[in-house]
Amino acid sequence: MAEMKGYHVAFRCFRGCPGEWSIYDVIYTCPTCGGLLEVAHDVDALRGRSAAEWKALFESRVGATSWPYGSGVWGKKEWVIPTIDDANIVSMYEGNSNLFWAERLGKQLDLPELWVKLCGNSHTGSFKDLGMTVLVSVVKQMMTMGKPVRAVSCASTGDTSAALAAYAAAAGIPAIIFLPQGKVSPAQLIQPIANGAHVLALDTDFDGCMRVVREVTEDNTIYLANSMNSLRIEGQKTVGIEIVQQFDWEVPDWIIIPVGNLGNISALYKGLKLLMDLGITDKMPRLVAAQAEKANPFYLSYKNGFTEKVTIQSSETLASAIRIGDPVSYDKAVQAVIESGGLVEQATEHEMAEAATMADLTGMYTCPHTGTALAVLYKLRSQGLVQRNDRVVVISTAHGLKFTPFKVGYHEGTLAEVESQFANPLVYLPPDPDVVKKTIARRLEASSFAL
Ligand SMILES: *Cc1c(COP(=O)(O)O)cnc(C)c1O
Repeated sequence: MAEMKGYHVAFRCFRGCPGEWSIYDVIYTCPTCGGLLEVAHDVDALRGRSAAEWKALFESRVGATSWPYGSGVWGKKEWVIPTIDDANIVSMYEGNSNLFWAERLGKQLDLPELWVKLCGNSHTGSFKDLGMTVLVSVVKQMMTMGKPVRAVSCASTGDTSAALAAYAAAAGIPAIIFLPQGKVSPAQLIQPIANGAHVLALDTDFDGCMRVVREVTEDNTIYLANSMNSLRIEGQKTVGIEIVQQFDWEVPDWIIIPVGNLGNISALYKGLKLLMDLGITDKMPRLVAAQAEKANPFYLSYKNGFTEKVTIQSSETLASAIRIGDPVSYDKAVQAVIESGGLVEQATEHEMAEAATMADLTGMYTCPHTGTALAVLYKLRSQGLVQRNDRVVVISTAHGLKFTPFKVGYHEGTLAEVESQFANPLVYLPPDPDVVKKTIARRLEASSFAL
């Protein structure tokens, strides 16, 4: 702990208004402009260690058992929340997720360097764990300091509530969850219920839930856990750092990520930028935000050159976790796209389902959001924007197991606006060895082994 004494963090206005607030204060937006805050680090102090020293330190912590460094997030504690007491950290050793070489899918796209960062291989099955470990840990420290916080709360399209409920339960802090009725998957719905959260289903969409939770958390004893709370960004930013570390500190050419509220792409950029500021890397990957056509306000903003923020009433989409019409982290995401030379692209329901299925047929098990990112990759590759020798990382944001109805619907051919070209229906047979053998022979003849 002593080594971290010199590192300072505080909330500051993202747009640059004056002022600085303790990260242990209950404050979510800038009191001057009403805009987003960010956790500001003392980068000069961090420069006290050389690039080589940081790399060696972080590498030594991967897989470590000494608390809390075995976590992919807390293994980078000095860059996340250096001032927190280890005893208050609430972690399930999230992060350090598999960076999967998608060799066979890459061959199909003539893209040998295709990698998929499997952030869904995590405690609650989505990348939301990365941010929630930070937020809940800070809340625990606030409570230890005697601040009058009684509970944590969020509105959610599913994965945020699952992560908040799990980390809050691990810490013994009550969680109040607002979900849009009938708009999250059964697996996502049962997670906070199982973890003992107060689950309130409102007859509205995500944006409607968000409006309610903002009013509820005006009572400062209920702490807001949505990504407007920039503490979550600090945990999520480790994903970009981790990718670079997994490539032996080489920077990929592209990172494609499915976006909704835009916290994730903001975080990705923030982590990658810190690597550059500390002289560990010397370039930025091009960041691509992938949206569902049914919930595409960021795509529309991009199309008008980011001259103004577009908000929409989102429509139903298979990619339910990114069904957001009024994205909170808009300003930060615009910076991420512009500064990285990135872009925004969208995918239809059919395109995302087909892309997810093609990936599954090479051994993955992709959620619809990952399907959205893959569909965008297919577009960029066929347009020649992503070139054959580029190294591309697609961020898989959730585990496919959380979206069973999507998979079942695809293979049963019942998804709206989706043509199930690669459906693989069950084969019903009598328990007769002859019939079974003949069927197998016929099917093996029809399918050829494609290397
Ligand atoms: C939350 C979420 C996203 C979008 O992240 P934002 O930070 O809201 O842009 C994408 N995919 C999945 C599976 C999610 O849960």
